[in-house]
Amino acid sequence: MSSKITSYIMPTYGERDLEFVKGKGCYLFTKEDESYLDFGSGIAVNSLGHCHPVLVESLKKQAENLWHTSNLYFSSKQEEYAKMICLNSFADKVFFTNSGAESIECGIKVIRSYHSYNKNIKKKNIITFEGAFHGRTFAAISAQKNEKYSKVLDPLLPGFINIPFNNIEALKNSINDTIAAIMIEPVQGEGGIRPASLSFLKSIFEICKTNDILLFLDEVQCGFGRSGKLFSYEWAGIKPDIMAVAKGIGSGFPIGACLSTSKACIGMSKGFHGSTYGGNPLAISVGKSVLEVMLNNNFLKSVDNIARYFWKNLKDLESQHDGIIEVRGAGLLLGLKTKKNNIEVNKCLIKNKLLTVTASDNIIRLAPPLIVEKQDIDKALNIIDKTLKELND
Ligand SMILES: *Cc1c(COP(=O)(O)O)cnc(C)c1O
Repeated sequence: MSSKITSYIMPTYGERDLEFVKGKGCYLFTKEDESYLDFGSGIAVNSLGHCHPVLVESLKKQAENLWHTSNLYFSSKQEEYAKMICLNSFADKVFFTNSGAESIECGIKVIRSYHSYNKNIKKKNIITFEGAFHGRTFAAISAQKNEKYSKVLDPLLPGFINIPFNNIEALKNSINDTIAAIMIEPVQGEGGIRPASLSFLKSIFEICKTNDILLFLDEVQCGFGRSGKLFSYEWAGIKPDIMAVAKGIGSGFPIGACLSTSKACIGMSKGFHGSTYGGNPLAISVGKSVLEVMLNNNFLKSVDNIARYFWKNLKDLESQHDGIIEVRGAGLLLGLKTKKNNIEVNKCLIKNKLLTVTASDNIIRLAPPLIVEKQDIDKALNIIDKTLKELND
């Protein structure tokens, strides 16, 4: 049924006609069995592609045993998975959520409770950056201060100070004794696939350390292997105090998590936060399997290799086409800034059977599954080349 005829869905997503009924690896299939190469991954979500056999098996097995008990009861599987996440990151503690925005909410509670616990009564404000995207809840739209997501929704929450991205001077000038935390995406996603420079991240880290300010990273989009390392912060050689993750963590199963050091979450005492579904058995079993695959057999090394191959070839395309103004991003989270309107370019790519996602600043976002192979990359490059030629670019 086309959404044009009639729809019972709230119109927030606009009209959508293209429907997929099946997915396998890097491909999606329509009812008519037409295949599309998926370089959007459901907005950087399907990290291991569609219906990865290990994940299907894990989900099926769990579905036959237990779906849900709530967090009233102990779960050894939650403990095992949380331990695995901690052993492979900066974190000592994990709070499981169901989405990115929920992980952001939890992180903000960690920040406020930390300073409250330590009686830092002045530290209430959180620094955020222009172009940031942290989700759709009221805290998230208040944090990112972007009209696109918040107009008509005021009043927003106070306590967020939005400053220019990648600008050390502006950051230094905004530090004072009211600053509780700095919250940043190491690679901005929705804001236009803009990586924070490694020197900017290092400066933030130092500023946080010397001023008892918590560093809260939003790796909802750029985490879990997307950058070619398990977490993007590893490239800068820094460690956050708190980090929100989601998207790629579940490869399509709705999972999120807020990670923290023991020190930062000292104020998160009993009854202070909770979630009915967070850490649900189905989510835990899929999440654990995703991480097992990512930690296995040079997986991340090959993500890094294929990402470099993709980057090099996109740069070649850039030099051949006036229609590409810039290639940017990190790992397998790449953006093409196009001369023509990105929505038009995206439509034309879809017509040619390559799925991509637009982002702000006239960007075509390329976020293939991390299992993508050279032949898929070559195919995508050919489609991009052909599409730009069709558009006379
Ligand atoms: C998608 C995204 C979010 C929000 O995640 P939801 O699961 O949609 O709530 C937050 N931060 C970043 C960086 C994102 O890309």
